[in-house]
Amino acid sequence: MSELLFMEPVFKEAIWGGERLHTEYGYTIPSDHTGECWAISAHPNGDCTIKNGTYAGKKLSQVFGEHRELFGGIAGDKFPLLVKIIDAKEDLSIQVHPDDSYASEHENGALGKTECWLILDCKEDGKIVVGHHAKDKSQLEQMIDEERWNELINVQPIKKDDFFQITPGTVHAIKAGTLVLETQQSSDITYRLYDYDRLQNGKKRDLHIKQSIDVINCPYIDEIAATRVFEQPTYTRKELVTCDFYTVDKVDIFGKSLFHLDKPFKLVSVIAGSGSIDEHSIKKGDHFIIPSDYTSYILDGDMQLIVSSL
Ligand code: ZN
Repeated sequence: MSELLFMEPVFKEAIWGGERLHTEYGYTIPSDHTGECWAISAHPNGDCTIKNGTYAGKKLSQVFGEHRELFGGIAGDKFPLLVKIIDAKEDLSIQVHPDDSYASEHENGALGKTECWLILDCKEDGKIVVGHHAKDKSQLEQMIDEERWNELINVQPIKKDDFFQITPGTVHAIKAGTLVLETQQSSDITYRLYDYDRLQNGKKRDLHIKQSIDVINCPYIDEIAATRVFEQPTYTRKELVTCDFYTVDKVDIFGKSLFHLDKPFKLVSVIAGSGSIDEHSIKKGDHFIIPSDYTSYILDGDMQLIVSSL
């Protein structure tokens, strides 16, 4: 019997986190400093539990390990994707991720990290850090050495629904007042470049300057994703990004439509509104996987979905 896999998210506290994962999404959160909802994840640092059906109570990593047929029989020992919602009440530290080859060599065979962000909400004058202004590695090293952070870091304005693809080697950070849905390779490897000289328990958090200089791309090149939109009478589908690691679509549902599964499996997050998938009611804040044997489904309602796949 084919069935959807609904996720029980894992929550992460952080000094920069807030309480909007409760006030906006209704989740039960561990404290008013909750930074991340790991919504669809099989990563050892936050492995989601299946809520319903045959696999209820099992971890996603276990189901992925034992029932690869639900995931199109894909190769590899790690579930490849991770979907998060991030609530930044304060600025996050400025960071950069390695690619697969650097992570494999320097981080015990871990995956690198390509990630992308959809801005769910932000302040009216919201800003984000993406990229830098050093023209080459030697200028990068010099600016870091001289702590010329304001000259180095590229800060730009954002608004709700903006989308950013963050490739390995891209300097990036979410700033205060921003809610983000992140789709990423299943990796937790982050190099902290600058933390605004903040103190935690009286001391600064560790920086990873050497690794950051190793992996930062110079100069920074803004990769503008080509977005295509497909309009139908009862839904629109907007392709946000397709890269080597994932495809991410934003789907607006405003009626009833039949869909066919055209990928090994899909990850779905409801980011606004409510409706149904077949006999299941779904609403903002729900996350589920459509497995390989769930070959067609009817979506109905008035809602926005982020749908990702390999
Ligand atoms: Zn990141």
